[in-house]
Amino acid sequence: MSSSLASRLAALVGEAAVSTDPARLREAARDLTEIRGVAPEVVVRPAEVAHVQAVLRFATAEKIPVVPVIYNTNIGGLAIPQRPGCILLDMAGMNRILSVNPDDLYMVVEPGVRWDQVKDHLDRNFPQTRFAYSLSPPDTSVLANCLMDGLLNLSLRFGTSSTWLNGVEAVLPDGTLVRTGAAAWTQAQWCTSSPMPDLTGLFVNLHGTTGIVTKASVRLQHAKRLRRRFFMMGYDLRACFATVRALVREEICDDIGVLTWPVAKMLFGERRPTWRDPGEPLAMIYLDVSSNRQAEMDLRLAILEETLDASRKSGHAWQGPLDVRDLVKIEPAFQKLAEFPTRLDFMLDHPGGGLSWVGTYGPTSRWDEATETSLRIMQEHGFPPFGVARPMAQGHFGVLRLIETFDRDKPEEAAAVAKMNAAIVEAILPMGFIPYKTPEWVFAAHGSRIDPGFRELLRRVRTAIDPAGVLNPGKWPV
Ligand SMILES: Cc1cc2nc3c(=O)[nH]c(=O)nc-3n(C[C@H](O)[C@H](O)[C@H](O)COP(=O)(O)OP(=O)(O)OC[C@H]3O[C@@H](n4cnc5c(N)ncnc54)[C@H](O)[C@@H]3O)c2cc1C
Repeated sequence: MSSSLASRLAALVGEAAVSTDPARLREAARDLTEIRGVAPEVVVRPAEVAHVQAVLRFATAEKIPVVPVIYNTNIGGLAIPQRPGCILLDMAGMNRILSVNPDDLYMVVEPGVRWDQVKDHLDRNFPQTRFAYSLSPPDTSVLANCLMDGLLNLSLRFGTSSTWLNGVEAVLPDGTLVRTGAAAWTQAQWCTSSPMPDLTGLFVNLHGTTGIVTKASVRLQHAKRLRRRFFMMGYDLRACFATVRALVREEICDDIGVLTWPVAKMLFGERRPTWRDPGEPLAMIYLDVSSNRQAEMDLRLAILEETLDASRKSGHAWQGPLDVRDLVKIEPAFQKLAEFPTRLDFMLDHPGGGLSWVGTYGPTSRWDEATETSLRIMQEHGFPPFGVARPMAQGHFGVLRLIETFDRDKPEEAAAVAKMNAAIVEAILPMGFIPYKTPEWVFAAHGSRIDPGFRELLRRVRTAIDPAGVLNPGKWPV
């Protein structure tokens, strides 16, 4: 062990779980984004809950910061140490699907369980169930996504991923093991958080600052026999949003979203498309429909056609709806959008591998102006106007995400991304679009606008749970 800290940790959890490999430490100081932190002093990869308890007890007694991480793809610098001398707690090694209950529609997973692992396990063993998938790479964490309130392909119907949590098991900084949801009272089930006080929220959207989650009960849904995915190409952004709103009101789809034109060009291999040929569509709408009955499916598709016809009659041009299976026959590149989980290589595999975004949740009533404003800012900064908008939770709110790829090894590109992201948040936060998986720089620029009473409440909760302030310091600063 190359440091005394590493040796002391090895005495607690075994040498095999502790690393001071310089390359691993260096890599941990950054993620895919432009955000930079400092290298941890040591990495611990727990194999069991007792390891997590031992590390946290030790860190709290010694006041050593602990930063939890799984696959580090949160796109917000949320698992990067901000202070020197910290322990990086790599939870990827705890990666078992502990149980699946198809009748009560839940599974219990450890932090390292990945999207592809869940898909494979359910398809093979529990085909009567389905889970929702994000557009995150297949080899990233399901549980981290739930803790960060992520967006999934069934989020229009069932809400963002934190609402899929029935409860968690977590280790508090002093080593205490806690459970939330029904399993806090009965070992007989973990299919709901009701009627318990909802303390799962203590671990959601707080980026590991209140406890280290060691398992979670996550909801499954009933599988549907028939599933179709369509793409429609639109030439007017406002008409696209109007059509999405109309289709959400009809309640015919599992998921629907607007992708702006650079996505199509990037799918076909263009690295940074800043031009659009006249006559090319401005946006693609994608839409998922599922049902157990052909007659119901036919009715849903008829409503889709009717809605598009109404838009056409009011003067808007559309191509489609095009079935993704036909699109794949014509252009195999569309396969990436045909089945989830999927690896969006056009966003990841390019020189320097940088990916950043401003991802927000906000009111769908102000999508149009927030999107137009953001896309204009992106173009003014020399970036492709690459945006994604999706309604969530039956349309109660929506996602607006402005995405850019760049070369992480070029400081001038990283600086340009940071400047553009800052300008976007400055413009759309006043419209009600709050950055999710909130990066530290957003708090630095806009944290003073958070209600003082809310800040005080959060400060008291955090201080009560983590009086030594060791858990992921710098995140959600209050
Ligand atoms: C191309 C691409 C597309 C993406 N698309 C989506 C998308 O469609 N929807 C979406 O929601 N996300 C998306 N993401 C974001 C992200 O990849 C996913 O949310 C993913 O599931 C995060 O998993 P992770 O293992 O990388 O988490 P990490 O980044 O390792 O961790 C996330 C946060 O959880 C904390 N943490 C880690 N372990 C614990 C623990 N055990 N207890 C408490 N806190 C912990 C970390 O400190 C950090 O704050 C995308 C990312 C990429 C690169």
